[in-house]
Amino acid sequence: MTVTDMSADVLALLNLPDPSDLNADQRRGAVCVWCPEPLTGESAEGLGEQVDEDGERWFPRACKAHAAKHAHAGLLDHAGTCEQCADDAEQCTVSRILYRLVRQEWR
Ligand SMILES: [Zn+2]
Ligand SMILES: [Zn+2]
Repeated sequence: MTVTDMSADVLALLNLPDPSDLNADQRRGAVCVWCPEPLTGESAEGLGEQVDEDGERWFPRACKAHAAKHAHAGLLDHAGTCEQCADDAEQCTVSRILYRLVRQEWR
């Protein structure tokens, strides 16, 4: 799994905060985007490289607890609207990525 697997669909479901509300440490991925917890490589879930409205790049990362919590909420949102999930969730990329985050098996 690499950050390129973080499709726009997945990120929309995770409900990332508005980058203009974040401090510099959160924007560069040193601190969880949802709480003040400082992150290490071990504890962090990378959420891909993002570009804000001004064209500035930012690198959201989250602690495992928040990544799992938001992925779970996103999964519930997604499953209700996805035909592929209704048919066979195993075959749905969005579902697989979110589910892996929930299980904290992001490697
Ligand atoms: Zn957090
Ligand atoms: Zn799906």
